[in-house]
Amino acid sequence: MRETPARIRRFELVFLGTRGEIKIRSRRHRRHAALLIRHNDARIMIDCGSDWLRLLPAIAPTAIVLTHAHPDHAWGLARGAQCPVYATRETSDLLRGFPVRDWRCVPLGKRVLIDGVSFKAYAVQHSLRAPAVGYRIAAEGRSLFYVPDVAWLPDAAHVLRGTDVYIGDGATVTRRLIRQRAGALIGHAAVATQLSWCREADVRQAMFTHCGSQVVGGDARRLNAVLRRLGRERDLEARLACDGDQVLFTNGDSPKRAAGSARNRIGRFPVSIVTAKRSKPSSRKHAGLSPENASSAAATADVFRPSQARTTAVSTNQRRRLIKRNAVEHLD
Ligand SMILES: [Zn+2]
Ligand SMILES: [Zn+2]
Repeated sequence: MRETPARIRRFELVFLGTRGEIKIRSRRHRRHAALLIRHNDARIMIDCGSDWLRLLPAIAPTAIVLTHAHPDHAWGLARGAQCPVYATRETSDLLRGFPVRDWRCVPLGKRVLIDGVSFKAYAVQHSLRAPAVGYRIAAEGRSLFYVPDVAWLPDAAHVLRGTDVYIGDGATVTRRLIRQRAGALIGHAAVATQLSWCREADVRQAMFTHCGSQVVGGDARRLNAVLRRLGRERDLEARLACDGDQVLFTNGDSPKRAAGSARNRIGRFPVSIVTAKRSKPSSRKHAGLSPENASSAAATADVFRPSQARTTAVSTNQRRRLIKRNAVEHLD
């Protein structure tokens, strides 16, 4: 009798959306920042902004975890959810009007196990009205820190130390979008600042989601070059995340997968990034909603289908106005 091969334990990330709370969208940054963690059969969605309201049933997460109660992170729950929703008490209290049946409380600084994945919430400075957290997330001996909105991360060197990849706030690359109010910083730290936090903590790789007007309305190639340079100056690899991009934790036990993604691999780093193939957008492999684990795979393939993407063309003047308005919108 042949022995059944040991089950390959899976732990990978898919950027469902990478857009911040801005007026424009593009094919690369089409929907509000949200991350899907796939761990064996679990599908944990982090954040669920209003862009996801209609698509939530198709994503079919087994759990939703929220960073804070801003519309671009939580208002996709306006019709409730079919799974437990994890959040700090402050965040769930702000969202009591939503018909969520199963709220689960995430205490600050304590490890919580969600579908076999460890989450630890850290309070970050970002908003007075909607207090935000970042999550240190770990499974299968690998880890990441996810903080899509952050003006200041207290004790960054300690909090980030030992994580394989930092996934941060891409609202602004070099210009701070920060105000000081009631002794706290609100808004968004520049990518450059966040890379310095990573440097202090010896984090080797960083990706940026929750992209602002500067990124969504800008020249992606040029901005990625800027990010690479900012990263190199701090001895780490940095890049912008796009909708549909995947992060694979490569520990040598999956040579087939590693070979398949060799074209986009960054060999010397612990994390390999597979960029979404925009030329074959309907490929479910890159949709992050693969047929093997989604009963609603056909519906979910739509999530990344660019034919439906509404790419908004904007003039330079419009863009300047949007960037200005965005700066104001984010400082609450
Ligand atoms: Zn946001
Ligand atoms: Zn926010």
